[in-house]
Order: sequence, then C-alpha cells, then structure tokens
Amino acid sequence: MTTETVHSLAHIRAAFFDMDGVIYVGSRPLPGVQELLDYLDATGRRWMLVTNNAALTSQQFSDKVASMGLRVPAERILGSAEATASWLRHQIEKGWPKGKVIVNGQEGLRSALTNAGFELTNDPFDAAYAVSGANFSLTYNDLANVTLAIRNGARFIGTNSDRTYPTERGQVPGAGAILALFTAATDREPIVIGKPNAPMFEEAMRRLGVTPEETLMVGDRYETDIVGALKLGMTTVGVLTGIDSRSTFATQSAPPHLILDGLPELLTLLRRADAEVS
Ligand SMILES: [Mg+2]
Repeated sequence: MTTETVHSLAHIRAAFFDMDGVIYVGSRPLPGVQELLDYLDATGRRWMLVTNNAALTSQQFSDKVASMGLRVPAERILGSAEATASWLRHQIEKGWPKGKVIVNGQEGLRSALTNAGFELTNDPFDAAYAVSGANFSLTYNDLANVTLAIRNGARFIGTNSDRTYPTERGQVPGAGAILALFTAATDREPIVIGKPNAPMFEEAMRRLGVTPEETLMVGDRYETDIVGALKLGMTTVGVLTGIDSRSTFATQSAPPHLILDGLPELLTLLRRADAEVS
C-alpha cells in the first residue's frame, strides 16, 4: 500500500460497496459497516451499495440489511435487476426501439422492469428485448421462450455474468450459466449489465452524480468488483472478508490500490487521510 494512495483517499467524494462479503456474509453483518457509512455521511461523501444479485428489489435488500441492524435506505442500494431496467430505459431514451420484454428471472427483475415502464410478454415473437437473470424456478419452457425470442431478433441482455451462486449446499448455477445456455442455443452474446461490466458502475455514478476519478470501489471479488472499477479509473479497495484472499488480490497484474482486512481498516485510513489534508 502506498502513502500516496492513502493520502488520495481524502479526495474521494463517493464510495461504492459490494454487498455479500463486504457488508455482510450470509445473514451476519460484518464489523464496522455502520460506522463507516456514518463517517462518509458526516464528511459529505456519497455512497451506494452495488450488487450483482438480481433476485431482490432495492427495498427487499434494504429490509434484509435492516434485519442486521444496518440503516440503508432503498435508494442507496443498486442491484443488477434495477440497474438492468434503468440502463435499458436509458438506451430507449437514446434511440433504441420501444417494445415489450420477455424475461427469464425472478420477481425482483420482473418488478424492476415494470417499475421502469416496460410491458412484459410471454410471447417470444412479440418481444423486442430478452432479459435474463438468475431464476430458481426455471423451467424448460422459460428456456425455450427466451431462446425463440433471441432467435427472432430480440436484443439479448443479461443482468450479470456470475456463473455460480453461493448457497449453503455449495455453488449452484448462477445467471451467467443460464446466459451461456442461451448463447449456445442462439449463437448470440448478451450485453451484460452487472459488474465487471461498465453499465452497472455507470448507472451507480449517474445516480450519485460523480465521476470515476472521485469514486472508491470496495469489493471482495477481484474478477468482478475490482476489474470493472479499475477499467473505469476508480480507486479500488480489496477487502478480505469475502471470497478473495490477500495473495489473490496481490498477485494480479493490476492489483487493487489497497488490500485491507475489512471496513474498520478503511475507516481508519480515511480518518488519517482527512486529518492530513485538513
Ligand atoms: Mg461480494
């Protein structure tokens, strides 16, 4: 870790946090979350929790963290379902054709799309867009309908490319594994919204009104959280409370700017950086 990076933390205006492995693990909140969020508020910084999980709405995520004793309003949480719906709405405002959406996904994704003004359809030949996320009650009919829609020319969009989803039994197929099936059946590659792709980060920055240069991204997974943020020019922090180890972060050709045990260490560094420039 360089002194220069620590010093530059003083100039950060916004922070994005991944959720699982950064804010909580399972249903257990990680240490120091509320203290850090309160400090960001107190120093006039903006923040948002940004997750590839497309199963829940922002309100459902807010309720989930509230049950852990954390105060996070729904508008401070961006999941890939809502990011996908917002992003698609903006593409249409910028000139993509209007049309119905066929969805493979759960309630979180369906309601995000309808809340963003989209009409959903189950008819593969009536869909301008085919949107796919994780779906724990997936049927062959869902697979067939979305495949037919894409083959019929619907634009193919994925919420995220996480190939597996962690459960108590182990890793089960995630949204990315389902996208791979559609690609195999259609020879088409999806536009993917979630981290490490840019649309998710761009949507979060648009909501907070900040640029990558003044934004910090905190994540536990190099391949998603850190890769995407580095590509956009954000300052990055890898924390060791989730998936990746110190050596996984440190041995990358472009490692995160800081590798920290967790959020309490980040709060300490931020306070130190702020004290140095004041
Ligand atoms: Mg994570």
